[in-house]
Amino acid sequence: MAKAKKFIFVTGGVVSSLGKGLASASVGALLESRGIKVTMLKMDPYINVDPGTMNPTQHGEVFVLEDGTECDLDLGHYERFTHVQLTKKNNFTTGQVYDTVIQNERKGKYLGETVQVIPHITDEIKRRIYEAADGADVALIEVGGTVGDIESLPFVEAIRQVKFDVGRENVLYLHLTLVPYIAAAGELKTKPTQHSVAQLRHEGIEADILLCRTDRPLSAEIKKKIALFCNLEADRVFTAQDADSIYEVPLNLHHEGVDDKIVELMNMWTSSPQVNAWEEIVQKIKSPKHAVKIGVVGKYVDLKESYKSLNEALFHGGIGNNAKVEMKFIDAEQMLSNGSLEKALDDVDGILVPGGFGIRGIEGKIAAIRYAREKKRPFFGICLGMQLAVIEYSRSIVGWADANSAEFEPNSKHLVIDLMEEQKQVQNMGGTMRLGAWECELVTGTRAFDAYKKSMISERHRHRYEVSNRFRDEIAAKGMIFSGFCRDPKLATKGGLVEMIELREHPYFVGCQFHPEFKSKPLAPHPLFNSFVAAAIAFKKG
Ligand code: GLN
Repeated sequence: MAKAKKFIFVTGGVVSSLGKGLASASVGALLESRGIKVTMLKMDPYINVDPGTMNPTQHGEVFVLEDGTECDLDLGHYERFTHVQLTKKNNFTTGQVYDTVIQNERKGKYLGETVQVIPHITDEIKRRIYEAADGADVALIEVGGTVGDIESLPFVEAIRQVKFDVGRENVLYLHLTLVPYIAAAGELKTKPTQHSVAQLRHEGIEADILLCRTDRPLSAEIKKKIALFCNLEADRVFTAQDADSIYEVPLNLHHEGVDDKIVELMNMWTSSPQVNAWEEIVQKIKSPKHAVKIGVVGKYVDLKESYKSLNEALFHGGIGNNAKVEMKFIDAEQMLSNGSLEKALDDVDGILVPGGFGIRGIEGKIAAIRYAREKKRPFFGICLGMQLAVIEYSRSIVGWADANSAEFEPNSKHLVIDLMEEQKQVQNMGGTMRLGAWECELVTGTRAFDAYKKSMISERHRHRYEVSNRFRDEIAAKGMIFSGFCRDPKLATKGGLVEMIELREHPYFVGCQFHPEFKSKPLAPHPLFNSFVAAAIAFKKG
C-alpha cells in the first residue's frame, strides 16, 4: 500500500505543450527547498511499451536514466530541477499497464473474472503509482496528455480513486490550464479554463489548485472570476506566466505563493523555503559577462527538441562560466556543398557534434570535425560525435582512408568503430545497446581529468558501437589520447573500452562515448560542458 505520505497529481487542460513537466519539476524543486523528500512520476497515455524505440522527431529526445531506462524527456526536467534519481519505476505508459494486465490474465491471476478497465487497469495504474512513490514524503505525479483525451481517462479515474485509498487530505489535484490573451478583444479569456476544469470535474476530480499559463499576470479580478466559475477559492488560482528561461519558473511560482498554498492545503509542516541557489542562477542568466556561439552540427530535422538535454547542458555550461551560450544548429548534410562548411562554421566559437544514429549526414559531420581539428576551434564530440572524431583522425592522420564504423560501412578494412563481442550476438533492435550508468577511469594529466578533478567517474550511455580495441594502439601511437576507459568486469571485451578521447596540440578537442548531458543540472553544471564553454570563451577572446 501507499508508503509515500502525500500525493500531488498534475493534470493539464485546454492545449498540449503547456509545460506540465516543467511545472511539476518546479513544484518539486520548491518542495525540496523546504526540506521535503520528493519523488516524481510521469504516466504516459500512449500505447508504446518501449519509449526507447520512439521517433525523436515526433516525441523529442529519449532521456536515459542511471538504470538504463529510456524514457520521456520530461524525466530530464525532473532530474535537472530536483535531486531525485529516477528509475524505470518513475515512468510508465498505457502500453506497459495493459501488457502487465494481459500477462496476468494469461497466467490466470484473475481467476476467470471479466477483465475490465475498472478495476483491473486502474488497479494496475495505482499499483505502479504506489510503487514509484514508495519512500518519499511527497510524490508528484504527472498525467500525460490533456484532460478530455480518450487515452488519459483510465489515468484520471485511477488518480480519482487514490484519495479513497490514502485519505483526501493526503492528495492534491493541481491543474495546469491556459488563459489566452485575445488581442482583438484586448482581454484575457477565462472560458477555456472554465471548460477544462468542468471536464475534469466531469471525470470525477475537483481541482484544488489552478496554475494558469498566460503571457501576462492575472489581475485579482480575473482570478476571482476563474475561482467563481471553477468552484474554488481565489487564492488557489495562480499565474504561471511565460518566462524567458525555464529556470525562472520555480522562483516565479514561489513568488506567486504556490508552494505556501500547497503545504497549507496538505497540512505539511516544513522548514522555510531556501531558494537562494535559484535566485543566484537566475541572476547569472539575466546578466551574463560573456557571450559565445556554439555550432551544433547534426541532422537538421532532429535539432532542438530531440537534443533537449544537450541544449540544457550547454546552457548550464554558460551558467557555470557566467556566459550566454547561443546555439547555432547546422545541418550536417549541407556541410559538403561548396564553401558552405566555412560559411557555417566561421563565426562559431566552438563546434559540437552530438550523438546520433544512421548514416545520413555522417560525412558532413566528419568534415566539420576536420575543420575543428585543423583550425584549432574548440571541439566537443558526444557519442557518435566522438566516434566520428576517431574516424576522422584515422583517415587524416593515421592514414587509413577507408576508416569507418561498422554502423555505416561494415566491409571497410579499418573498422575503427565496431561492435564489441556481446553486441555481435544481438540481432533484435530495441534495448540491446550499452545503456545507463557505467564507471569510467580517467587518465591523470589529461584534459578530461582536469575537468572532473577525479579519476573515477560514472556517466550514462546509449549506443551500440565502440572504439575498436584492434586499432587502438596504432591510433594512439599517432597521437590521439585515450583519456578514459571502462574496465567494468561485466564487459566481455578484454582491455576495457575507450570512453574518452582528446588531442594535445589543440586548445580543446575532447570526445566522450557517454552522454554527459543527461547528468547536467542548472545548479550543478556538468564539468565537460563547463570546460568546453570555457574553451569557447577563451577562443573568442583570441
Ligand atoms: N550510432 C552510434 C552507436 O550506436 C552512436 C549512438 C549515439 O550517439 N547515441 O554506437
